[in-house]
Amino acid sequence: MDFTLTKYKELLLTIKSKGYIFERFAEYIEKSAIASTPQLLNLKTIILRHDVDRMPQNALKMAKLEHDLGIKTTYYFRTIPQTLKPDIIKEIADLGHEVGYHYETMDTVNEKFKMNNLKFKSDEERIDEAYNLFCENLEQLRKLYPVKTICMHGSPRSTFDNRDIWKKYSYKDLGIVGEPYFNIDYNEVFYLTDTGRRWNKKNISVRDKVNSGFDIQVKSTKHLIQLVESAQLPNKIMINTHPHRWFNPGFGWVKELVIQNIKNVVKYYLIKRSN
Ligand SMILES: [Zn+2]
Repeated sequence: MDFTLTKYKELLLTIKSKGYIFERFAEYIEKSAIASTPQLLNLKTIILRHDVDRMPQNALKMAKLEHDLGIKTTYYFRTIPQTLKPDIIKEIADLGHEVGYHYETMDTVNEKFKMNNLKFKSDEERIDEAYNLFCENLEQLRKLYPVKTICMHGSPRSTFDNRDIWKKYSYKDLGIVGEPYFNIDYNEVFYLTDTGRRWNKKNISVRDKVNSGFDIQVKSTKHLIQLVESAQLPNKIMINTHPHRWFNPGFGWVKELVIQNIKNVVKYYLIKRSN
C-alpha cells in the first residue's frame, strides 16, 4: 500500500535526518533572490508543495502531521466551495504553513460562458475575464491569509492552460512573488509529483510537467525513501503532493463501518421492541 500518511511520515523523517532544510515556497523565492553565495546554493533545501484539489480535511491531517515533526510547507487551495473552507485554511496557516492560491480561472470563465451559450469575442477577452476572476478569488483568499504565491491547477480535461493569463498580465503587480511553474529552475531543483498516483508518472495527459534537468526514476515512496537515505537525490528538491490521495486506509473507514453496524443493530432492536 503506497501513498499512506504512515509512509509520508517516514519519508519526512528520512529527509529531515539527511539535513535538508524545509522551506515554504514564498520563503524560498525571497531567499533565492538575495542568496547567490556558493555556500547558500549548496544548502540542502526542500519545498513541500501541496495542491488541495479536494477533501481539504485531508490537507489538515497532513498539515498537523508535518507540524508535529516541526516542518513547514505550502498549501495551494482552489477557491471552489468544496475546498475554500475558512476554518481549515486558518488552522493550516496557524500551524505555520504557507497558504497559496491554486488558480484555474481560464477554465472557470470558459465553463461559465459555455453554460450561458456565450462566446468570447477574442482570446484576449477570455484572458481579461479570467484575470478579473483571478483577482476576485485572490481577494477572497487574502481575507484568510496574506497570499504571496500562486500555483496553477492543471485539470487533465481542460482545453485551456490556466497560465495563459500571464501572457498579458503580471502576477507581480498583484503582490505575488512566485509561481512554481515560472519561478523555479528545474535544472537546479529536482521536481517530483504524485500526479497520477505515481511518482513522476510518464505520459499523463496533464499539465503538471516541468523540463527537468534530472533523470531520476522513482518507483514508489519506499524507493524514494531509499534514494534519500543513500544520498542519491540532488540538493534542491520540490515535492508536489495532492493531500486527498494520502490517507491511512482502514482506520477511518473501519471506524465508520463499526459505528454504522452498531447503529443498525440498535435500530433492529428498537424496531423489534416497537412491534
Ligand atoms: Zn490541482
